[in-house]
Amino acid sequence: MLKKERLAIIRKYYPNAITLIDSVNRAIDYYEEVLQLEPSKIMFADSVCSDDMNSIQYPTRAQDFLGPFKMGGLNGFPFTGLTGMKAFASHVPDDGAVLIYYGPHIGITKNGIIGETHRIGQSKNSNCCGAAKGALSKLLKNEIIEQEVTEIDYQMNVLEQIILKQKARILDSELPIYEATEVIYEAIDQRINELVSLTNYNCRYLILVGAVLINSDSDMGSYTSTKRFDIINLADNSRKSVIDEFLSAIK
Ligand SMILES: [Zn+2]
Repeated sequence: MLKKERLAIIRKYYPNAITLIDSVNRAIDYYEEVLQLEPSKIMFADSVCSDDMNSIQYPTRAQDFLGPFKMGGLNGFPFTGLTGMKAFASHVPDDGAVLIYYGPHIGITKNGIIGETHRIGQSKNSNCCGAAKGALSKLLKNEIIEQEVTEIDYQMNVLEQIILKQKARILDSELPIYEATEVIYEAIDQRINELVSLTNYNCRYLILVGAVLINSDSDMGSYTSTKRFDIINLADNSRKSVIDEFLSAIK
């Protein structure tokens, strides 16, 4: 299937989606052109779901960065917390940058079904994100107990609590899994910004890229719908959004 045909399927739900590969290529060019930084000066951390599909479809060129430091757990929530953030912040080259790509993921099949994807060697589609779908299923059945967070299923329980707080918004939505993913994105974005405010970075820039990561079928690849693209100049702590500039260069 042509790229424009694949993008048309994904953009029915996420109008600004681009392929993950184009996103990484464009970002590397952008950092070189605008920040005068080559990838070997950039410490990359991601906060994305542990799902094996995210490893299988990981863009090869992202290996040009230092890292990745893996902050995420189920559905991309930054479960490594403040200790994780402080760890890679102390590993960055002095004249370089810290780059964090974060967000939940969601499947969209080539037939346009959202919340599912087709994995290699399987005859049927499976849930994606499985954790988000599991939490949503419990929400629909009123099985999430307020403040119940167990040790044995800690990450899942945290996701359940996040969506429980926005129960009406999710259940009133035409596409509950889409809305639940938006809710989880907002919780991740809020937590990343909170962790950032509590961390010192001894380098030139901090780059925050918040997105919904979209896993299509194994023969369709991954896509990203960017929601935040901020560059923080650590010399004076000024923050600039470059999302429009970044996306305008990609078809
Ligand atoms: Zn997942």
